Amino acid sequence: MDKCIFCDILAGRLPSSVVFEDELVYAFMDIQPVNPGHVLVIPKKHARFLGELDEEIGGHMFRIAQKVAAAVRRSGVRSAGINMFLADGEVAGQEVFHVHLHVFPRFLSDGFGLRFGPEYGKRPPRRELDEVAKRIRAQL
Ligand code: AMP
Ligand code: ZN
Repeated sequence: MDKCIFCDILAGRLPSSVVFEDELVYAFMDIQPVNPGHVLVIPKKHARFLGELDEEIGGHMFRIAQKVAAAVRRSGVRSAGINMFLADGEVAGQEVFHVHLHVFPRFLSDGFGLRFGPEYGKRPPRRELDEVAKRIRAQL
């Protein structure tokens, strides 16, 4: 396996500021936060992409992220809202190839934003939505 900074963190070879840990997942502070209070939740078992991640572990990762989000809101860290974000694949913005779920506080005029592409706002016809739904359904 290639070198993985999150596995290094899990092994204690790199420092981290822990928020939560159990047998399946580890939650710690992002070193380059979008806003203060930015937490990453990762599976302990290395998986590069969602497709390599056990569904049960993925579900647990989200469960813990939900708890972390509630804890961030209660913590006194500025958070009028919370975003969760997961980049699966390089084109989706993934930079560290060990699955991780971002949980970060949001507040008015914090400057964070997502830019939409040319597809956004087109509102395709229902038959097109139905057709794509059918293709996805067939793979579930
Ligand atoms: P992504 O772009 O979704 O792959 O996000 C990777 C995240 O990992 C970024 O937000 C980085 O700031 C964060 N990161 C990288 N190295 C470390 C580290 N050693 N400790 C904590 N967070 C890290
Ligand atoms: Zn790893």
